[in-house]
Amino acid sequence: MKFLADSMLGKLTRWLRMLGYDTTYADNLDDKKLVEMANAEERILLTRDSELYRFAKAREVRAFFVEERSRSEQLAALSRQFNLSLELNPDISRCPLCNADISPARKDSICESIPEATARVCEEFWKCVNCGKIYWRGAHWKKIVETLRNANSILKDG
Ligand SMILES: [Zn+2]
Repeated sequence: MKFLADSMLGKLTRWLRMLGYDTTYADNLDDKKLVEMANAEERILLTRDSELYRFAKAREVRAFFVEERSRSEQLAALSRQFNLSLELNPDISRCPLCNADISPARKDSICESIPEATARVCEEFWKCVNCGKIYWRGAHWKKIVETLRNANSILKDG
């Protein structure tokens, strides 16, 4: 399952990539191009634009209207609709910045690129195979876990 997110969904795009879903972020395409791209690449179009949503549906392109809600509620709604997994698994995560795969990186191979304090407390690292960005379970980790926990409980409560 692959997604194409419109220009209003940059943050949601990063979440989907972290969860392992191939998501293209299109921030400079008009509606017609977006729908063509979703169709050609068999991506589900995610949009906050009701007009674009109707335009896509009329052309029988799979589309989902993302409501203006909390991140947890948006993720729960997507999970309900497409049976998305809301568990974070670094083995399948994609780079939030560029959508490429990330792979485990040995600390001694990347220690020059990370803050010293991080090197002291973290043991596990991942590196994007495309843009080279390095990831670890840092200060944002708790917030990420909490958002996913909320999303999963929204899902359970129906
Ligand atoms: Zn990357």
